[in-house]
Amino acid sequence: MIREVEIGSVRLGAENPVAIQSMTNTKTTDVEATVLQIEALRLAGCDLVRIAVPDLDSARALGEITTRSLIPVIADIHFDHRLAIESIRYGASKIRINPGNIGNDNKVEEIVRAAKERSVAIRVGSNSGSIKPAYLDSYDRATALAESVLEEVRLLERLGFEQIVVSAKSSSVLENHACNRYIRQKVDYPIHLGITEAGIGTAAIVKSSAGIGALLLEGIGETIRVSITGDPLQEVRIAKLLLIATGRLFGPELISCPTCGRTEIDVEALAGSVKEWLDKDFPSTQISVAVMGCAVNGVGEGKHANIGIAGTRKGAVIFIKGKIVETVERSRIRERFREILKNIAGGSA
Ligand code: SF4
Repeated sequence: MIREVEIGSVRLGAENPVAIQSMTNTKTTDVEATVLQIEALRLAGCDLVRIAVPDLDSARALGEITTRSLIPVIADIHFDHRLAIESIRYGASKIRINPGNIGNDNKVEEIVRAAKERSVAIRVGSNSGSIKPAYLDSYDRATALAESVLEEVRLLERLGFEQIVVSAKSSSVLENHACNRYIRQKVDYPIHLGITEAGIGTAAIVKSSAGIGALLLEGIGETIRVSITGDPLQEVRIAKLLLIATGRLFGPELISCPTCGRTEIDVEALAGSVKEWLDKDFPSTQISVAVMGCAVNGVGEGKHANIGIAGTRKGAVIFIKGKIVETVERSRIRERFREILKNIAGGSA
């Protein structure tokens, strides 16, 4: 059993669900913009938000941000231990530090003391760019990264601190995988998963899905951050889909066929509309919906879905768990499918 660690109102580990996190990209000193972005992230499904604290003004801005935020705020600190202590004072629920760049153990001890006083958790960890060189002499890169992180965990333990979240991130999916499996065998603290500097767009989504998804399927990972260059809302949406796909979160699942020469309806347009309906009206309902191009293959292929639609020469057929319940003419496909979908999703889908 993984230890339970409290981050404000969110609990990681034990039997708790995997928490989604993201990071604001506003200037932290711009309180209004930061609070607005946090709220948008929360509404998209973000459970925890991390904020960069590069200077004392940012640490002080946390005072108002943490008061107004409806989700726990994590302060991201590099180099200056005073920023961590100030962030704790101003309401951060967790501090993310890399003890290796904080300077010396006395400074880390000061942070730990402040965190203990306010019951604030600490995330320690490294990424592949900050592997301690000495470990590279004895281990492969994945193990060297894991041992670098575990050294930080042992430092906190020596200081009598156990409200720890561990993270080891690499931009290599394979290295990330081996490293986190190794860490899971060594410690029972919650693990924060992510592929660091995953890149942009589709490439970032594929890397994160492969890297985080494979570990989630092995039961490793108590909180995740999908890292994509750009709008953090995108990170949260992808993280949510990833958790649904790996069976770690209840939510709607859209199944649609790739289309081929048998396709009788505009699958792409209809699937896009269905996704919008589900996101808007049933974001937390466990339902699978199939949109298939033809009835010849589609009804059978989509029979595991709670509800589906498949194209025919004159329109479409609507099916529930593989059984056709209605034939619809082309002009009424969207309207009628939405009506029946609403009934099914609103019931006990
Ligand atoms: S469901 Fe029909 S249209 Fe879609 S890919 Fe399969 S055979 Fe082609």
